[in-house]
Amino acid sequence: MARGGGQNWTSGEAEGRTENPEPETKMVKETEYYDILGVKPSAAQEEIKKAYRKLALKYHPDKNPDEGEKFKLISQAYEVLSDVKKREIYDQGGEQAIKEGGTTSGNFSSPMDIFDMFFGGGGRMTRERRGKNVVHQLSVSLEDIYNGVTRKLALQKNVICEKCEGVGGKKGSVEKCPICKGRGMQIHIQQIGPGMVQQIQTVCLECKGQGERINPKDRCENCNGCKVVREKKIIEVHIEKGMKDGQKIMFHGEGDQEPELEPGDVIIVLDQKDHGVFQRRGHDLIMKMKIQLTEALCGFKKTIKTLDNRTLVITSKPGEVIKHGDLKCVRNEGMPIYKAPLEKGSLIIQFLVIFPEKHWLPQEKLPQLEALLPPRQKIRITDDMDQVELKEFNPNEQNWRHSAEAYEEDDEGPRAGVQCQTA
Ligand SMILES: [Zn+2]
Ligand SMILES: [Zn+2]
Repeated sequence: MARGGGQNWTSGEAEGRTENPEPETKMVKETEYYDILGVKPSAAQEEIKKAYRKLALKYHPDKNPDEGEKFKLISQAYEVLSDVKKREIYDQGGEQAIKEGGTTSGNFSSPMDIFDMFFGGGGRMTRERRGKNVVHQLSVSLEDIYNGVTRKLALQKNVICEKCEGVGGKKGSVEKCPICKGRGMQIHIQQIGPGMVQQIQTVCLECKGQGERINPKDRCENCNGCKVVREKKIIEVHIEKGMKDGQKIMFHGEGDQEPELEPGDVIIVLDQKDHGVFQRRGHDLIMKMKIQLTEALCGFKKTIKTLDNRTLVITSKPGEVIKHGDLKCVRNEGMPIYKAPLEKGSLIIQFLVIFPEKHWLPQEKLPQLEALLPPRQKIRITDDMDQVELKEFNPNEQNWRHSAEAYEEDDEGPRAGVQCQTA
């Protein structure tokens, strides 16, 4: 499991996160869809799903009615990037290639369909015969998922008005809308020029497209003729050991009620917060641990606080050398397995060896140290070799890039000139 040495380790991320084994850069034509979702072009499918999940819930018209355009963009970006084939087309040819079709049709699905598909709201057919599903995100800590916890959540939902039993007024007070004559649409005729008229069809304002209305004087006072009232409802969410980030907990029939429709569901989506020490990967937990060079060479005892507040003691025996970046594991100290919580994954520890600072040892003592360490490699230096200066490397400086550009410019100038002359 150990990945050779510490060459991959960069000094900027000493704490917390384990480095991503995916390549950090990937050449793509455009990054707009990735930018919309806030992920890198090298992002794995899991990251793309997670990004969509968070953004779609945030910008859903139920929660953010003014951000319809943003919701649509998020949906389109997700539709392309979540599909391996479409993502490849996009990476190579950008948005243009997607719109021109490639192998699939360039049309986007409706943002609501994508949302329903993602959050398990069922297809359009079931949705039309049932009330709307309500999706909520619930933020949980890694401790919550490790130990299991019950959380109370207050929701606002529409329930059938008790007073009028969902009629909206007195029995028999519902009448065909006198404005649109029950069609739900109104037609306006507009004169747009001499002898020219235009028909404009709009949703009837009186009945809001329902085709029927309740005479204002007969309207139910409790619901104001709306047939439903907004009510606060507390639901208990049982977060079981080993549940995953993004896992859905369904409450059947707890969604909004509408007359003559089966109520929709409430869907709670878990959103696991990042943890300061542990990172979860499947059933395993991953952590980084800094050890001193002395400990790496001479052995150590270290403690680890678990997510249920126990303290583990790990031991590296004297003589067992731990290299920078080495991975070790403790079995059965990872995440509990969902529905089988007595079993657990592994706790994986990546060791980061801290080397002493410059000049920590007086120079005259270095031979003593050297006598104890493995012998150095001998090399022969001859006159035909170049002695060069070894400097600190700063990856942000990138001197080579500037010189490469300068070179290109120099290269292009004369060539363009030659072309002019020959033409
Ligand atoms: Zn009407
Ligand atoms: Zn009522």
